[in-house]
Amino acid sequence: MGEFDLIEKYFKRDNSYPGVSLAIGDDCAIVDIPEGKQLVFSIDTLLPDVHFFSNADPSDIARRAFCVALSDIAAMGASPLGFTLALTLPELDENWLQGFSDGLHSVAVEYQCPLIGGDTVKGPLTISLQMHGVVDKHRALQRSGAQVGDVIFVSGSLGDGAAALHVLDNSVSVDAPTKQYFNKRYFMPEPQVTLGKSLLGMATACIDISDGFLADLGHICRSSRVGAEIDISAIPMSKALKLLSNQDELAWALCGGDDYQLCFTVPESQVAAVESVMASTGVSLTHVGRIVPGESIRSNDGALLKVNGYQHF
Ligand code: ADP
Ligand code: MG
Repeated sequence: MGEFDLIEKYFKRDNSYPGVSLAIGDDCAIVDIPEGKQLVFSIDTLLPDVHFFSNADPSDIARRAFCVALSDIAAMGASPLGFTLALTLPELDENWLQGFSDGLHSVAVEYQCPLIGGDTVKGPLTISLQMHGVVDKHRALQRSGAQVGDVIFVSGSLGDGAAALHVLDNSVSVDAPTKQYFNKRYFMPEPQVTLGKSLLGMATACIDISDGFLADLGHICRSSRVGAEIDISAIPMSKALKLLSNQDELAWALCGGDDYQLCFTVPESQVAAVESVMASTGVSLTHVGRIVPGESIRSNDGALLKVNGYQHF
């Protein structure tokens, strides 16, 4: 099997999606940008033993790569359009490719975001996905719009991503169902696409939590030139995380990363609207603090919260 057979067999699928004029098979893909929309795109690279365990199920690796990449599109309030995949493989392992491509195509169908092109080369395993989405012109949610007095919300619960790393490498031991829960939380984060879209015209700033809640809220604060006050006791944590009764659970929720929830700010006047978004999307949204003047993030007893997010360098 050569490179082109590999692409044909594992990556070319029926891509008759609305807006996709030409997918895999030519020099470029062609997609339509609907009238009144803007294209948003971002790229994410995943490396073995940095972003996933190299012996993980290839289908799980694919799902995680897709969800992590789509999370950025969700954070802008955009709708998925399609993605490209740059795959560097050390060898042509058909078992691995079958699992990887099955996982990738099934999650792509779930989010209606097709694979429309890519590149395949030989070398150390590297998975890069470029996600594309569309959003109404000049309405995308950005990091820079938070205003003093805005209320800070987070979706879902925080800390499971970091806890999962400890559960998966067995440094925290748990029973089998708990392990399965954290495995799912790690490999199948849920990009908050529906929530992001519902926040258009409502949120003043938004970010997805990939590096850790405090680090990512810090990005909103820096971009918006404001500070934040957080009610630590309000930080939402899952039942499974609390049941671990691990002394690190709050640190994981605040600084852990890999949660792919949204953190966003809204003016006080929009708090009731956020509650209806919660009802319509079924995603739990928790009021965790408020935007204040200054540039630091503090707890509401005034203590400075150390921002300690993940950085590669
Ligand atoms: P070129 O040499 O012109 O850049 P390639 O030979 O790399 O084209 O790719 C041929 C076609 O297959 C292109 O449409 C490209 O987008 C697609 N393709 C290559 N690798 C992948 C992949 N891993 N996933 C999806 N599409 C791919
Ligand atoms: Mg070409």
